Amino acid sequence: MQYCLNCRQYQFYPRILCNNCAQSELEWKDVSGKGTIASFTIVARPVSKAYESPYVIALVDLDEGPRMMSSIVDIGDKTVKIGAKVSVAFEQWSEKITMPVFRII
Ligand SMILES: [Zn+2]
Repeated sequence: MQYCLNCRQYQFYPRILCNNCAQSELEWKDVSGKGTIASFTIVARPVSKAYESPYVIALVDLDEGPRMMSSIVDIGDKTVKIGAKVSVAFEQWSEKITMPVFRII
């Protein structure tokens, strides 16, 4: 994830300048992949045939600070709820595209 060396904040999505202090001293750092569900919705009617419904779209607050939108996958018998802890996984959508998704932990 992009990290500002000036104000020591992570940011997502990547930008040319820091979203917090507008400096350009940015670098890439590994992050924990852990977070908390801030909000979610269960999509019953998919936007295209490429998506199998129902599926869960969530806003995840990463432990490092930034919030990102993603899918909650492999839910099984767990309950999707605000405040649930999640961990990142990666789904390969094609040879060139890999998407971060989250599982409840
Ligand atoms: Zn900054």
